[in-house]
Formats: sequence, C-alpha cells, structure tokens
Amino acid sequence: MINPRPNLSGLQAPSLEKYGFRLTLTGRNEGNLALHIPCDTSQVIQARQRVLERLGLSLANIAIAQQVHSARVALIGPSHAGAGGMQASSAIPNVDGLITSSGGPTLMAFSADCPLIAIVHPETGSRALLHSGRLGTLHEISIQAVLHLQKITLGNPESFHAIIGPGICRDCYPLGQDTAQEFIDSRWSNHLHQTRSDPPKLDLRACIRNQLQFVGIPDNKIEMLGPCTSCRNDLFFSYRADGPQTGRFAAILQSL
Ligand SMILES: [Zn+2]
Repeated sequence: MINPRPNLSGLQAPSLEKYGFRLTLTGRNEGNLALHIPCDTSQVIQARQRVLERLGLSLANIAIAQQVHSARVALIGPSHAGAGGMQASSAIPNVDGLITSSGGPTLMAFSADCPLIAIVHPETGSRALLHSGRLGTLHEISIQAVLHLQKITLGNPESFHAIIGPGICRDCYPLGQDTAQEFIDSRWSNHLHQTRSDPPKLDLRACIRNQLQFVGIPDNKIEMLGPCTSCRNDLFFSYRADGPQTGRFAAILQSL
C-alpha cells in the first residue's frame, strides 16, 4: 500500500498508523536532508524544518544516528531528543540504527539507495529505525535491532512489524568481485545473483527481509514499501544512478 501525502513527494506506510506509529519517507522534491555529506548546512536545516512542520514535529523532537555503514545500534531515550538535528557532529555516534521506547524521540535516518527499515512493537510503543546498506546488511543490523527490541520490550518478534523502505534493486546493483566475495562467504549468499556474463548482483531488500524472518518476524508482518531508488531516481535520490554528489532522502518514524 502506497499512500502519497498531499504536501510531501515521498511515501507513507499507512499500515503502521493503526498501531500508533507514522513512517514517512521524503522524496526528491523535499531536497537533500542529510548533513553528513557535503552540503549547505542552513539549506538542509531549512529543508528539514519544512518537512518536520508538516508532520507536526520540530528539530528539537528528533534524533539522528551518525550512519557509518556499521551494524551497530544505540538505545536512546527522551534526553537524546535533538541529537543530530542542527549539526552532524551532535548525531548519536558510530551507529546506523536507533532504538527507543514509547517516550523517546522521533527517529530520523537518511539514504540514497540503502534501504531504511522501521521495526515497531505495537504493545509497548517501542521502535527502531535503521540504515541498512551493503555493509550493514552483510553484518546483520536488522538482526541486531530485533534482538535489542526483544530485550527492551520482553516481546516476541512474532508481535513486531517491519517496513523495508525504498532501496536499490538487484538489477541496478552489480558488485565488484571483492565485495561480492564477502556475501558469497556469508550466510546470505543466496541473495547474490550471478550469471556467466554479468557481474554478480545483490538483492539487498530481499536479503534484509530474509534476516528479519530469520530472527522471528513473520513474513506477513514484513512490508516492502516503495520502488527501487535507482530505477526511480526521478522520485528518490540514488547514489548509483546520480553519482556521489547526490542528496539524501529521509525516513521519519514518529509515535502518534
Ligand atoms: Zn532498480
């Protein structure tokens, strides 16, 4: 189910609203929203403010991870509200995923091609937002996040819901031999597709789905939201399709 929001060019996940959460993905029209890449800081802050205002939020409500292509997650609380909002240096350091319980801040993450993943536990209002690129996926950030969520909620992963946001598709994601080898040597090698003539291609979103299933989330509670960012770089920023100077779109996971 895709439900475009009237004033934003991205997507929302209506399936989470009945559980008390709102996940919003911004699109290309909202501009670059990340400060961890070369950018005009004041322009990015203004763009963030415009998006957050439409969702009834402000920069003081949100928390942002540094995003270093790791599989590390941090457990955060109300005192972390505002982290990374005004400058990259105040983001929660050295992690690619944030987890919080019901009173915690709204979570915000950025991407151009890497899937952003929301995992929620409706009973307790706990939630996680992850950036799962090639390395984060190889090192299983989704599994780490579910294990942490399990610890803080004492909930069974069968009661979690996950949304895998827009991300690069297999046809758009050929890997070099070295990076392909890392997946060949991992337990996720079945998500690397190789023909005799083409370079190996990675199905990142299928791999993430498989990881979420592996750690106990039922398949009918895992949703793929939105298209390939590279095929649809008219709608989303794509590192592969646009080049390294491209912007980043955002995912915003708020409690309603
Ligand atoms: Zn594609």
